[in-house]
Amino acid sequence: MSEQDERRAQEARERLARAAEAGIHRLAIPTPFQVGRVNAYLIEDSPLTLIDSGPNSAKALDELERALASLGHKVEDIELLIVSHQHIDHFGLASILARRSGAEVAALDRLAPFLASFGRETDLDDSFAQNLMLRHGIPADVVTALRAVSASFRGWGSSVQVTQPLAPGSELRLRDRTLQVLHRPGHSPSDTVFLDRSSSILLAADHLIAHISSNPLLARPLGAEPDVGAERPQALLTYMASLEQTRAMELSLVLPGHGDPILDHTALIDKRFHMHRRRAEKIRRLIAAEPRTAHEIAQELWGNVAVTQAFLTLSEVLGHADLLLRDGSVVETEADGIVRFAESG
Ligand SMILES: [Zn+2]
Repeated sequence: MSEQDERRAQEARERLARAAEAGIHRLAIPTPFQVGRVNAYLIEDSPLTLIDSGPNSAKALDELERALASLGHKVEDIELLIVSHQHIDHFGLASILARRSGAEVAALDRLAPFLASFGRETDLDDSFAQNLMLRHGIPADVVTALRAVSASFRGWGSSVQVTQPLAPGSELRLRDRTLQVLHRPGHSPSDTVFLDRSSSILLAADHLIAHISSNPLLARPLGAEPDVGAERPQALLTYMASLEQTRAMELSLVLPGHGDPILDHTALIDKRFHMHRRRAEKIRRLIAAEPRTAHEIAQELWGNVAVTQAFLTLSEVLGHADLLLRDGSVVETEADGIVRFAESG
């Protein structure tokens, strides 16, 4: 380990110790996904609360049980399960945990119908992604392959019944603390962060992550039909507005859904803003050279990426194209159902 890695690991341990002093413990649960482990957080309070759970797998459950045991608890002790957002690495195990413990399940009010019928909702999401990919120039065979990939991931999720729907801005009262519920859409439409008022610790899930930029993934708006046509959601603009809100907060520590705690959230958010502006400028130059589809732009930037990355890179390009559309430096044109971006004027 290099000296810098050593120092970073030491800092992470100190921050986790600080969170533990406030009764919040990180449980890093394995996932089969590229992102690696997902962080669940146990809050030792009354009710005994678990934020997120890991994916629906025996390995995740086994490690979660061992992590709980190391803190003197078991699954059956959990009294409140909170779901941070709609991605399966965060909530897949929730139904099993809720059944075994009898815990209440809390999530953003508008996320509850999605969690109740996960399979059907994911079908709609897949149709949405399919429409969007074809519209933005991704070849039909790639689109078909991606649908199969999505179907193969389905088993790591599971439907779960929300018993405590949370309104944005509302408060969850525990014996020793109050968690403020804040909706911060962008990475997904349902991203919810929780502010522990007494310690100024923000439980941020995937809204802000230290070692990777949270992808503002294009997603079907909650409750919407899969064919949104020209009204596609503007995930990056939404995400940046959410980051502005978080940037304005006084926080002692941010506990993310993956990786290590974040001490200086304003510096990290500024770094993200800078990166997005730079990437938008790069895309603007490609569009100025010749009109292109989002897929052609993605290929210019990243070459022929793996099939599984096609939707991710499309989200990246469209997000930054939205920044340019807002500035008025590019325009969007459509012919035969295919969208191209061109320099304006
Ligand atoms: Zn996520």
